[in-house]
Amino acid sequence: GDLSSRVEVEGKGDIALLAQDFNRMTEQLTRNEEVRRNMVADIAHELRTPLAVILGKLESIQEGVLPSTPETILPIQDETLRLIRLVRDLQQLSLAEAGKLPMNLKPVNLRQIVEKITEQFAIEFEERGLHIEVIGDVPEVIGDPDRLTQVFVNLIGNALLHTPAGGSLSVLLAEAERPLEDALIDDETRRRLRDVFRRKGEKAEEANRNRRDDNGPSEVRSDGWVQVTVVDSGEGIPEEELDHIFDRFYRVDKARERESGGTGLGLAIAKEFIQAHGGSIQVKSKPGVGSCFWISLPIKPNASTKGNTLTIS
Ligand code: ADP
Repeated sequence: GDLSSRVEVEGKGDIALLAQDFNRMTEQLTRNEEVRRNMVADIAHELRTPLAVILGKLESIQEGVLPSTPETILPIQDETLRLIRLVRDLQQLSLAEAGKLPMNLKPVNLRQIVEKITEQFAIEFEERGLHIEVIGDVPEVIGDPDRLTQVFVNLIGNALLHTPAGGSLSVLLAEAERPLEDALIDDETRRRLRDVFRRKGEKAEEANRNRRDDNGPSEVRSDGWVQVTVVDSGEGIPEEELDHIFDRFYRVDKARERESGGTGLGLAIAKEFIQAHGGSIQVKSKPGVGSCFWISLPIKPNASTKGNTLTIS
């Protein structure tokens, strides 16, 4: 339908105000429609490339141009798996954006989640000579462990991908009174940040121990925030790209990133999942120095989680 109609009413009366509201709503609808149209175009574009690769290779095999061997079949399988990941990511992203992400909430130990992920990535870290450290601890938060795991898999996976051999990666966990506004990542700040996080983390670790000693299974506090910061000493992100980094399908280096098997949805998903928990995610980065993604999560998410389906088990 035509969404471009406007109503012009002179003056300052009720009707004029109503007309202004109407025009604002129309503009919003037009914008939404544009976003939707762009999204469909983006998805079509993302699906076309792997599908073309798959079809091309299958045809070559069928015509006898390529032999049917594990070496020729493996890339077809890889592309297919990437399509499956892409479709899964898209589905989760659209559910989250619509506020309909099923969330299975329970007490979550973030340090455990992060440690498990670093263990899963251990071979990759070793192969690339990357050093990773997990610093500090936080009280348990109420969250969906699978969603939070995916957020940190995406962040740590990105850091791994974008940090040259010999680099380092830190995950810092700390408690906070409110969401952290800012984090700078030059060497000095990083050292300071690390000290602060370490001290806070030690306190949190102790508090966790005490809680566990006191009353068996730890009790989740009802207020406060936790911060998880993923810092890498990698290639960094140019300033002009930072605004777009959480957009779906946005990649700084289009060709190379696609090759790496990423769906271009990792950060968009991270942002939506964190917002579904009532938290926020931000980034600071300096080309040649590194990147720093930090997440603020409320210890207990409240009603402001965009209406995603919260099931507490
Ligand atoms: P992808 O699946 O392509 O990795 P993401 O949404 O996870 O998509 O990331 C979007 C883009 O942001 C990446 O393609 C990359 O260019 C950039 N990026 C993300 N994390 C980092 C990082 N730690 N260091 C440098 N660049 C990064």
